[in-house]
Amino acid sequence: MLTKSNKTDVIVVGAGPAGIACAITLARAGREVVLIERGLFAGSKNVFGGAIYTKPTKEIFPNFEQEAPLERRNIAHNFMILGEEDSTSIAYRKDGNESYSVIRGKFDRWMAQKAKEAGVILVEQTVVRELIKNGTKVVGVKTELEDYYADIVVLADGVNSLLAKQLKLRKEIETKDVALSVKEVIKLDKETINQRFNVKDGEGVIGEIFGGSMLGILGLGFMYTNADSVTIGLGVTLDDLVENNYRPFEVLEKLKQHPTIAPLIEGGTLKEYSAHLIPEGGYNKVPKLCDNGVMVVGDAAMLVNNLHWEGTNLAMISGKLAAETAVEAFEKGDFSRKTLKNYERKLQNSFIMKDLKTYRKLMPIAHERKKAFMCYYLKKINSFFEMFTTVDGTPKRENYHKFIKSIFTDRKFSELLKDIWALIRLVWSILI
Ligand SMILES: Cc1cc2nc3c(=O)[nH]c(=O)nc-3n(C[C@H](O)[C@H](O)[C@H](O)COP(=O)(O)OP(=O)(O)OC[C@H]3O[C@@H](n4cnc5c(N)ncnc54)[C@H](O)[C@@H]3O)c2cc1C
Repeated sequence: MLTKSNKTDVIVVGAGPAGIACAITLARAGREVVLIERGLFAGSKNVFGGAIYTKPTKEIFPNFEQEAPLERRNIAHNFMILGEEDSTSIAYRKDGNESYSVIRGKFDRWMAQKAKEAGVILVEQTVVRELIKNGTKVVGVKTELEDYYADIVVLADGVNSLLAKQLKLRKEIETKDVALSVKEVIKLDKETINQRFNVKDGEGVIGEIFGGSMLGILGLGFMYTNADSVTIGLGVTLDDLVENNYRPFEVLEKLKQHPTIAPLIEGGTLKEYSAHLIPEGGYNKVPKLCDNGVMVVGDAAMLVNNLHWEGTNLAMISGKLAAETAVEAFEKGDFSRKTLKNYERKLQNSFIMKDLKTYRKLMPIAHERKKAFMCYYLKKINSFFEMFTTVDGTPKRENYHKFIKSIFTDRKFSELLKDIWALIRLVWSILI
């Protein structure tokens, strides 16, 4: 229990993957940690697709595969390119254990229980309203019930992070740098899922969906198989939704009716639906990550690799790196920005900032050429396979010539050149 003065070593705000990973790492290192969560319980407010990734999760919870509430072990990754009515799919299948589908309500609660067992003081149903400062240093938090004090406060309060904004570590997110994601969990019996997705008990499939109801807008869809339900959802940049006056649940409804998707969820009953924001600004929009007495981790620090649907792994590892930095700060007895800057250095040397840097040009280029890459070429891939599979007596060479000619007649030459230039810039930025 805390002393009367409510002073502890570290306060972590937010019991998502980032906050829990941070808190448990600190507790294991012998520090006293208070983890504050506004939800009824950890995970009760959290929304994701989704899959958690084995290697980073094991760094925090070495035995999670034996102990955690997991839905299915993903053994296949299906990439579905949807036209208006048709589709082309590529499926990668490997009987490995790279990732598992989980339900956050159950999984986060399990992680929080593990943190408690490690000695973390978990305070649920409590909102941190603001930070307490002494001069330029953050020294605690104000909740609706009481104030807590600490040498270090870690902000793991998710994508909106009002607290990081309060400290002016980050600005309001621009609508082009955030996606609104909506998803539904559809109940289906286990055998139906096994049969439709061609898997055995305990095995699962991840679906990545391009196009369909999202043709021409910056959006991606996803499907995950759970034990006895299927999650389907999509994320679309907020400015595209506003610009086109789209309602996200209507876009999802239309996606569910696509001839490639509908049979996979047919006969299922809606179990839950939810919406959440995903930070998409990437490397160039990562805010200031620390200041005197404070560090920012996970979604609050915009650490999401949106192309790969990776967020929980970046959250957990950033939480762990912040905790390790805090442990060093206690050894030195110095909680200033200068010492906490080591967290930034650790992040830069990790896969987190390296991956975000790799994709730093992705979103700007995608915004620039979205009509081309998110509509025209997706349709073109489908029309190629339509041509390739059609048997109507037309000589094949004639078909190929017609297809190639169509590329130059459908699209202005100048636009084609811009597309090629955008592709070269993108590939260059990823590889070099
Ligand atoms: C639809 C969707 C699909 C996704 N799919 C995947 C996927 O398949 N795989 C993947 O790895 N990632 C996925 N992500 C991203 C992933 O969910 C996030 O990156 C990850 O949850 C970030 O973890 P976090 O701990 O930083 O934040 P969060 O999980 O958002 O947790 C923040 C916590 O802070 C609490 N909180 C907020 N403010 C306060 C306050 N003032 N006081 C107290 N508590 C507070 C919240 O209640 C919450 O529990 C997806 C995201 C979405 C929206």
